[in-house]
Amino acid sequence: MALKLFNTLTRSLQEFAPSAADANKIGMYCCGPTVYDYAHIGNWRTFVFADLVRRTLEFFGHEVRHVMNITDVEDKIIKRVQEQKVSLREFTGRFEAAFFADLKTLNCLPPHLTPRATEHIPEIIALIEKLIARGVAYRAGDSSVYFSIAKYRGCGCTYGQLQKLNFDELRVGERVAADEYDKEAVADFALWKARVPADGAVFWPSPWGEGRPGWHIECSAMSMKALGESFDLHLGGEDLKFPHHEDEIAQSEGATGKPFVKHWLHAAHLLVEGKKMSKSLGNYFTLRDLLANGFTGREVRFLLLTAHYRETFNFTIEGLHGAKTALARIDECVGKLRELAGGTAAVPNRELVEQFKAALEDDLNISAAWASVFEWVRKVNRALAENSMTHAEAASHLAAWEKVDSVLGVSAAAETEASAELKALLMERQSARQSKDFKRSDAIRDELKAKGWIIEDSPKGQRLKKI
Ligand code: AMP
Ligand code: ZN
Repeated sequence: MALKLFNTLTRSLQEFAPSAADANKIGMYCCGPTVYDYAHIGNWRTFVFADLVRRTLEFFGHEVRHVMNITDVEDKIIKRVQEQKVSLREFTGRFEAAFFADLKTLNCLPPHLTPRATEHIPEIIALIEKLIARGVAYRAGDSSVYFSIAKYRGCGCTYGQLQKLNFDELRVGERVAADEYDKEAVADFALWKARVPADGAVFWPSPWGEGRPGWHIECSAMSMKALGESFDLHLGGEDLKFPHHEDEIAQSEGATGKPFVKHWLHAAHLLVEGKKMSKSLGNYFTLRDLLANGFTGREVRFLLLTAHYRETFNFTIEGLHGAKTALARIDECVGKLRELAGGTAAVPNRELVEQFKAALEDDLNISAAWASVFEWVRKVNRALAENSMTHAEAASHLAAWEKVDSVLGVSAAAETEASAELKALLMERQSARQSKDFKRSDAIRDELKAKGWIIEDSPKGQRLKKI
């Protein structure tokens, strides 16, 4: 079998086949955060999903170039910059730093490139100029530039590739200036917004006068700069299908005349305790809120990874407690394997890896993937309890878990600090050596090694180091 993923573009499950040019290299773009606040747990569902996709592709042997933009100029940001009377960079820098810290807490692999919109103004302007030259964008009376849906469709291009749109309501030339707009608004959208007093100091010069880019054009410009005019994979939450992603397609294909992205993946939304998350309902959580309540990044990551990405996920506090219990089960099993394996290198046990792989191949069937993990935990625990596992088998199981965890990313970091019990053994060895009881001292060294620790000389004397 091969990896199959649901492509929003074709509305079907498709074998994931990278473009022929370099079959193993995959360009993957995920719309990143709008840095106007701390990312909430719904945002994190989408970013943890993107991390799962990236890790899965790497598990399947692909080389991924993972790009995630930082939207650091957009309507909501400008509003808050004005309210708080700070500079744009001061405002966005704070939330951008928090975002990267949270990304780490959730053990998401850092994207290879995280371009900021404000650092791509020349590319954005060049792209808009191209669209004007191709006749699908126009400068309006207020010096803003809009994308013309009618002209674009008139060239035989399709607007509405990701979802069906109702064009009966379309009145030619009707415009929408906001970055986010309703599903009903099939109207010309802003590429460049002419400067208005409410923008304060947030503006750049352009051939059409001072102003700032629209949100959609930012992603077209940054993704194509990083990954080329056509690339393999584009991800985001399902709310971005329209208008954001539809507009990205129109802008990119309108400018280049080439297909923009081959596979589009969208993650369904997250609800909290069955309800849409909202500050007024008191069910709005940032990652930081959960950490302050004693949960860990691992637990949140585990919970977010328990549901299939195309299913709406109901996030509950009870679920987080369940995550704690499940992780403790895995930790205990893996801890025992580490102890028994004692640092022996081994080929991964095939059964777990094969079952896990088969689950991922089926459109990232994460429930089946976890089922294979917990079935394995059960079997390993049984063998350990019966004392029927050899060092080599333990090492092979451990290697299998490490392979699987290269995708899941939920393992507790291997201990780097020896327990008090092991430190006591080290001290006993030192006194055995002092009294020239080398038999005892060697026996302790072997016992420590079997437990996965070696003795190392350091300026402060001997210490234990994990193998
Ligand atoms: P934003 O920072 O608002 O641009 O959103 C960042 C990402 O989070 C986008 O891909 C959104 O689709 C996604 N997102 C926003 N709200 C939710 C939610 N409730 N559940 C899942 N993903 C969400
Ligand atoms: Zn985007």
